Amino acid sequence: MKNIRNFCIIAHIDHGKSTLADRLLAFTQSVTEREMKAQLLDNMDLERERGITIKSHAIQMDYVYEGETYTLNLIDTPGHVDFSYEVSRSIAACEGALLIVDAAQSIQAQTISNLYLAIENDLEIIPILNKIDLPSANPDEVSDDIIDLLGCDLEDIIHASGKTGFGVDKILEAIIKRVPAPEGDPEAPLQALIFDSVYNPFRGVEAYFKVVNGKINKGEEVMFMQTGKKYFADEVGTLKLQQIPKKTINTGDVGYIISGIKTAVDVKVGDTITSVKNPAEKAIEGFEDVKPMVFAGIYPVDTEDYEELTYSLEKLQLNDASLTFEKESSAALGFGFRCGFLGMLHLEIIQERLEREFNMTVITTVPNVSYQAFTTKNPDVPIVVNNPSDLPDPNGLDRVEEPYIKATIITAAEYVGNVMTLCIEKRGEIVNQTYLTTDRVELTFNMPLAEVVFDFYDRLKTISRGYASFDYQPIGMRASELVRLDILIMEESVDALSALVHKDNAYNIGKKMCEKLRKLIPRQMFDIPIQGAIGAKVIARETIKALRKDVTAKCYGGDISRKRKLLEKQKKGKKKMRQIGRVEVPQSAFMAVLNLS
Ligand code: GDP
Ligand code: MG
Repeated sequence: MKNIRNFCIIAHIDHGKSTLADRLLAFTQSVTEREMKAQLLDNMDLERERGITIKSHAIQMDYVYEGETYTLNLIDTPGHVDFSYEVSRSIAACEGALLIVDAAQSIQAQTISNLYLAIENDLEIIPILNKIDLPSANPDEVSDDIIDLLGCDLEDIIHASGKTGFGVDKILEAIIKRVPAPEGDPEAPLQALIFDSVYNPFRGVEAYFKVVNGKINKGEEVMFMQTGKKYFADEVGTLKLQQIPKKTINTGDVGYIISGIKTAVDVKVGDTITSVKNPAEKAIEGFEDVKPMVFAGIYPVDTEDYEELTYSLEKLQLNDASLTFEKESSAALGFGFRCGFLGMLHLEIIQERLEREFNMTVITTVPNVSYQAFTTKNPDVPIVVNNPSDLPDPNGLDRVEEPYIKATIITAAEYVGNVMTLCIEKRGEIVNQTYLTTDRVELTFNMPLAEVVFDFYDRLKTISRGYASFDYQPIGMRASELVRLDILIMEESVDALSALVHKDNAYNIGKKMCEKLRKLIPRQMFDIPIQGAIGAKVIARETIKALRKDVTAKCYGGDISRKRKLLEKQKKGKKKMRQIGRVEVPQSAFMAVLNLS
């Protein structure tokens, strides 16, 4: 136990976490040259393309330092707010953290929130000034920022470059010398903390854990304390580049277990594994059941693909327990699903995976958060509204509550005014304003989650020229004056385009929605009226004018094969369209409400 070091890496996106992790693996010869692909830890295609680590993984390195062999377990953490609960469990499994700060960009919001988590969990923090090779690196100023933030000494900060490999030996030395060995009682009943799980279609779910107390043996019967389910530990082992099966994983060490679990839902991150024969009295603290934050309808473009979509979502859920879905039907779109996601990035990932891995073409409807409605008849019983069309009739409605968040934004002093304006427009209330340094300001707002889902992040980046970073945490439900904005196409209300909006913004949003839809919906042979309405009251109106002539007839009148080609091409382009009455509506129209500015 005394030679084990468990650590994670905290970094804002693109500050160089993956690159540096690869360097550590190469330096400790945990991977051979041949195995050394770029960004080894990000092994999902999607992750690599996006340059972020979506799912956390763990990897073990052996390193000989001053004649002693050390076991270093690097627990990787996802770098996006959507996955912050997983980050918190990974951090709870560690004794130390490398805090990577880009020497040109300095400290960003995502760094701060994860850093606070690490400090709460008493982790030893090793500050690293990365990308020191960059000509734009600003080591003196960024070091000052780090010292201000951590209260550390200048000598504690390690200069490094993931690009050149500079400083990697110093980082390993610091991990061994500064990060404490895990504590824990080898004689106590087994308590292993699950910090991640991965679905393997052949072997079932692999759970990754850290043994906090006791030990886990191959073949023994174990219980997952939150789900109450019992399994046999068919295989346990450590995580090198491959999995290395072992007889026992001891106190303080990190490993995996395979126990015939078939679906991801049965393995909950944060759960405690104990022994059935000699069970622990209590589970490890900090468990939470993650709840979806964002909901949207997913419908097949071709109604005949409904069965196929059902099957694909079931398959996806096997390896992504945070995806939820329920059947729903829409007057406009037919049969589909109301899906729940951790956030907008998670929604995009699911949509992309459906298309790439399952070859589905789907329409995703206007995303919304989960509201609670209360009727005058039953003002104490909340009705969960995950779809605007489920909102009870306004006549019997007592109130609607919506989820609020605490938003943390870090920006340069010159953009504070712009950020304030944006957040106030988004119904935010300022809670705090702190100068981290003379030029860097941390702003805290209470805001409705819905306003952040809708078109916030891009605008924040624009108004701050990219010099703002953003993170949030849920803080509970609050009553708001919300109304349902309906969109009518050809005088028919299209349920899949409805959204709940604040009363004061309804007129403005309705107007912009209609303008946007006019641009997005292709012209047809007839006029298409687009209306925005609240209840029976029309608040905005636009008309998509009819095409005057048959374009194909005009351009290619004589050449029948070219004409056919053009029609063929049009047909392909129409793939992501849904027929609503006589009108073809493209996917982009359903997302129009997300960027109305
Ligand atoms: P992550 O999002 O924190 O995992 O960051 P990555 O490791 O994916 O790196 C983000 C980008 O920065 C990539 O384009 C890397 O090639 C680049 N990068 C990473 N480390 C360094 C470094 O030390 N110096 C320079 N110049 N570029 C780096
Ligand atoms: Mg990465």
